[in-house]
Amino acid sequence: MAKEYGVTVNRIRKEATKVRKAMNGNVTLEAIVAYIKQTGHGIVYFNIPWGDEELRRYDLVDTAKTKKGFVYHQIAQIVFIDDTLPHTDKIRVLLHELGHIVLGHIDEGVFALKDHGIQELEAHTFARMMLDGGHMTTDNHWFAITAMICVVMLAGLKLSIVKGGATNG
Ligand SMILES: [Zn+2]
Repeated sequence: MAKEYGVTVNRIRKEATKVRKAMNGNVTLEAIVAYIKQTGHGIVYFNIPWGDEELRRYDLVDTAKTKKGFVYHQIAQIVFIDDTLPHTDKIRVLLHELGHIVLGHIDEGVFALKDHGIQELEAHTFARMMLDGGHMTTDNHWFAITAMICVVMLAGLKLSIVKGGATNG
């Protein structure tokens, strides 16, 4: 388990490095949109007439009410994003959604709205790494993921001690 989470962080860093390289280090809104399109996803801005029409078309009006952005994979592959967000938030939210895509959180053909803790943390970590160039230091979520690794490692250690004890006993 401990190893698994260590691998996870390395995998996120590897993906972030790869995507940053493809953008020549310029993580702009335009570059992110272009990269998302390269992954085969359309981009739809909602809270504007055209985007809201798309929400209705895919029956996502209620979904969009509680989200700044999300990935839709069913009839089409689309990253939806709230058009009313400030520019910097658009960058952050789109990087997060791109994180879900490149980290393989979305199953093909499945309507995937990922709200699961570890995948959220992974997508968040990806977005932070994209913005920080892989140098994550004082971010709270970075501490959260580090803490999680420690907890898992300790749990693994405890388990192996118990197992060892049982074997010896
Ligand atoms: Zn997410």
